Amino acid sequence: MAKLWALALHGGAGPIFGRDYAPEEAHLGALLKDGAARLAAGEAALDVVEAMVTALEASGLYVAGKGASPNTAGQWELDAAIMDGRTRRAGAVGALQGFESPVKAARAVMERTPNVLLVAGGAATLAASANLARVTDPKTYYGAVAEDTMQEQSPGMGTVGAVALDQYGDLAAATSTGGVLSKTPGRIGDTPIIGAGTWADERCAVSCTGLGEYFIRANAAADVSARIRYGNQTFEKAVRGALDDVKRLGGNGGMIAVSACGELAWGFNSSGLKRALADSRGRFEVGTFL
Ligand code: ASP
Repeated sequence: MAKLWALALHGGAGPIFGRDYAPEEAHLGALLKDGAARLAAGEAALDVVEAMVTALEASGLYVAGKGASPNTAGQWELDAAIMDGRTRRAGAVGALQGFESPVKAARAVMERTPNVLLVAGGAATLAASANLARVTDPKTYYGAVAEDTMQEQSPGMGTVGAVALDQYGDLAAATSTGGVLSKTPGRIGDTPIIGAGTWADERCAVSCTGLGEYFIRANAAADVSARIRYGNQTFEKAVRGALDDVKRLGGNGGMIAVSACGELAWGFNSSGLKRALADSRGRFEVGTFL
């Protein structure tokens, strides 16, 4: 029997009813196929989630990486995080300017420094020392923000993320975002805050999207693990409970998660969640709304 693996991707929790998300769904499906093949071939969860989020960033289809929108000062400040469940090593960048792949910068923080989170100029210096691809002309690279993206970004939610369980039983999560529309310069959301928007340990891996301030206040991603660990909740119930807590505070959004035994879960309390899920048992599904 094939060894167990599982993978989930998301492209944000703020789709607009009535808009056709066929391009995003086609992209998520193709990427899911690639990621599934990598996990089936024995690639590590950490490398797969980094590769998935890098591709989501580069597509320009989501409000992350190439598809990001500027802050009120006209600057593109991007956030990302990556976490390895087995070791709980993590890396993150906040308000990073001038680099194509924030998730690669986050991986560099994890691999090359004793730190977990670097922001602004410090993050850029590290990304430069890791020879990561630069964005030299932001206005051309990021392009204009499409009107429907603007709507979608109001109040936010175009983040991308990936969670995976590999054949060795290791879990990993990665998330990347341009943040919310018209954000204040220097504003950092939940995405690079380990425990809030991104989490992986020996129980589960979680990647969130939504109004970041609420996910920070709920410590939403790590809350899924805490509910399993201290509350003896089932994985599904833990995901639902963590999202309910965000809602109780007045926030909304969604998350994807994978457990150590290969269960996949997703949920949202916003308009929808662009998502794609696959596992070694033959599950393969892509969707946007309920
Ligand atoms: N969570 C992100 C943030 O607050 C936004 C999003 O998910 O689109 O920065």
